Amino acid sequence: MPPDSTSSWFHDIVSGLAYSAAQTHAAPNCLPLGPPYNDITRFVLEQQARLPDYLRSPMKLATLGFDLLGCLRTGRLFHSRSAPIRASQIAVWKNSNQSFQRDLIRYYESLVTFALYSRQQSEVEASATSAFSSAETESSQVLSDPQSALHCEIAIVGSGPGGAITACLLAEAGRDVLLIEEGLFHSLESGAPFSLEEMVHKYRNGGQTVALGKNKIAYVEGRCVGGGSEINSGLYHRTPPEILESWRDRFQVEALTGQDLVPHFLACEQELSVSLLPDAPPAASLKLQAGAARLGWNCLEVPRWFRYRGPNNDRGARQSMTAIVRRETHTRRSRGSRISMLHTWLRTPT
Ligand SMILES: Cc1cc2nc3c(=O)[nH]c(=O)nc-3n(C[C@H](O)[C@H](O)[C@H](O)COP(=O)(O)OP(=O)(O)OC[C@H]3O[C@@H](n4cnc5c(N)ncnc54)[C@H](O)[C@@H]3O)c2cc1C
Repeated sequence: MPPDSTSSWFHDIVSGLAYSAAQTHAAPNCLPLGPPYNDITRFVLEQQARLPDYLRSPMKLATLGFDLLGCLRTGRLFHSRSAPIRASQIAVWKNSNQSFQRDLIRYYESLVTFALYSRQQSEVEASATSAFSSAETESSQVLSDPQSALHCEIAIVGSGPGGAITACLLAEAGRDVLLIEEGLFHSLESGAPFSLEEMVHKYRNGGQTVALGKNKIAYVEGRCVGGGSEINSGLYHRTPPEILESWRDRFQVEALTGQDLVPHFLACEQELSVSLLPDAPPAASLKLQAGAARLGWNCLEVPRWFRYRGPNNDRGARQSMTAIVRRETHTRRSRGSRISMLHTWLRTPT
């Protein structure tokens, strides 16, 4: 039960919003998308609770304001009106020329749509979901709860590609490195890519980055061992020459031409197994290609960091920090030296 009257009020508004937004997707004989929508309301409230304080409070205030403004329009609070009247108030805000009003409705609509369509997958993903129930500690070198003070020469905060590569190079150079990660350790296989469960467990704020107003770009971030590398699409480009040129000019960096970087590009491409599809592209890609051809646009296959075993519908394995560390740890052990992979902490042995 909601603990106080504001929470209860907020719950009722979210419930009204969730019900109205979900109903537009419900179709006869389509059980997974139909009511009741209590699970959807619960999901939206849980997501709201995951927002950082500086976003949670304004979003809550905006939502309460939305409810109160129902009084101005219809003499009664939004959440206490009938479903058709609620739908018309939502439509007014959704089509408003005030970006703040539009964004608030979009925020709720996107969460409701996500939760609603994830219902269908939930059974299929049930086994994968259970893998998220606790952080995996698949290596004896993973440490999540150090019992005594840890000492190191260099501490690196964040285990995404930036931090992990820096830690790895320093460790290989013989330095005593501690890599600190606030997120949990989950392997790539712990859940279906781009699923609701993955967003809840591997993304910062459950995959929400709310920005009201005329924001130019929407983005999300990883928050787990491996950072963004655990959730990204693996699309790879060499740094374009015009970007290198601007970096050379603005920051006076020497030896930064495409030619200078070829050995580094090649090293990354080999390490990450950057490759093209070994056989025919999937139907969705062919559709995009056909659309581009029809519009007269250039269309090319973007290489990805995927490791393929061979042709014949091999879907390949995406590469990520946890995947590479696992491979490398194994290789290094067999060479007689070790890099410790620790949950929330990664350090070289002293
Ligand atoms: C959904 C998605 C798809 C993407 N697709 C592609 C793609 O196809 N191709 C491509 O090139 N790029 C893609 N990217 C971008 C790419 O993943 C990022 O550029 C890359 O991960 C950035 O690496 P990073 O190490 O700088 O930061 P991050 O990967 O964000 O890692 C930072 C890590 O630091 C941790 N952290 C932060 N603060 C603290 C703290 N105070 N204490 C402890 N830990 C902390 C975080 O939890 C996180 O794990 C995508 C990103 C996302 C989110």
